[in-house]
Amino acid sequence: MVNFMGVNSVRELVQHVGLADFLEQLVDAMDSDYRRWEQFDKSARHAIHSPIGVIELMPTSDGHLYCFKYVNGHPKNTAEGLLTVTAFGVLADVDTGYPLLVSELTLTTALRTAAMSVLAARHLARQDSRTMALIGNGAQSEFQALAFYHLQGIRQLRLFDTDPGASAKLERNLTRLDLPGLQIVRCTSVHEAVRGSDIVTTVTADKRNATILRPEMIEAGMHLNAVGGDCPGKTELHPDILRRSDALVVVEYEPQSRIEGEIQQMPAGFAVTEFTCVLRGTAPGRRTAQEVTVFDSVGFALEDFSALRTLHALLQQYPHLATPIDLIPEMQDPKDLFGVLHGTARQVPTPAHPEALPA
Ligand code: NAD
Repeated sequence: MVNFMGVNSVRELVQHVGLADFLEQLVDAMDSDYRRWEQFDKSARHAIHSPIGVIELMPTSDGHLYCFKYVNGHPKNTAEGLLTVTAFGVLADVDTGYPLLVSELTLTTALRTAAMSVLAARHLARQDSRTMALIGNGAQSEFQALAFYHLQGIRQLRLFDTDPGASAKLERNLTRLDLPGLQIVRCTSVHEAVRGSDIVTTVTADKRNATILRPEMIEAGMHLNAVGGDCPGKTELHPDILRRSDALVVVEYEPQSRIEGEIQQMPAGFAVTEFTCVLRGTAPGRRTAQEVTVFDSVGFALEDFSALRTLHALLQQYPHLATPIDLIPEMQDPKDLFGVLHGTARQVPTPAHPEALPA
């Protein structure tokens, strides 16, 4: 039997652990995995595009565990009552190739993306940042807002979305929670939201080269957390922001970001820094309070690896949240697969698999 975690199991798990603690565990897992970058088998994700969306496969392995995520991106979906982004994935044991966990990853992607944004901000944003503009108030936005509130000390959120209903939903969801000291400001334009913010998170969905942020909006010392541009032909920043002489542009995995990130707008020789280098101190992060920093986030497979191994490890504590599913045949004579079909093979449970405890 293989463990399965559905949407309700992940929801219950996060309730048991507590949202802030769960996010912090994801930050810790990603921090430790990004520090052992060389151990990972890395590739740009495999993407199949249609005129209105993309379906992607994201595999990686550290030689002990393997994972992949299936994820889509269809910005027009919400008009039909469907999510823009859905995902699921598998964590497997490299020694046997057997799956250990099959999990929903739609909620988990939103959680890990927000945790990754915080991890990047810890190294790139001014540590006295208290105000964040949040442009794009759809499915990902609460996760970003809460991660920055709980883990990074953000106390004023300045919201803007072209759909006022999305901002109203975000405000409603946040005001239902007990978030002492949080001030929410609804804005009527991107410019108004961005003005005076320490951090600007863009998490919009539109399959085109949008210019959500223009050069004149950017103030000295800002950290830009550009999350929504993650596909060829789908960007959020005007290229002159990236060209600023005082801008430090940080990406997750350069070969993938050259295809999908904001930097797809830049020539091949344009200098960027991979996040792992900043984390490990082999390249500088923020140097001065005046510098503009850009985290050109597209989402890298390592982040899903960290998330899946965190879920798997937490299942050791909360085993009732896993549903065993009949995914792989279990029989006494592994050469008698036909006996499984025929109903004559003796079934025995597969031996216990290793725990994926955080390194
Ligand atoms: P969503 O469709 O639920 O929300 C997107 C919101 O952006 C909508 O409310 C829409 O009205 C708003 N919007 C669109 N154009 C805008 C504009 N010009 N100005 C202001 N608001 C605008 O989508 P979502 O699930 O929240 O995802 C948002 C984006 O984040 C998607 O593009 C998705 O692909 C991306 N994403 C990236 C990562 C990552 O790791 N970098 C992870 C998950 C999702």
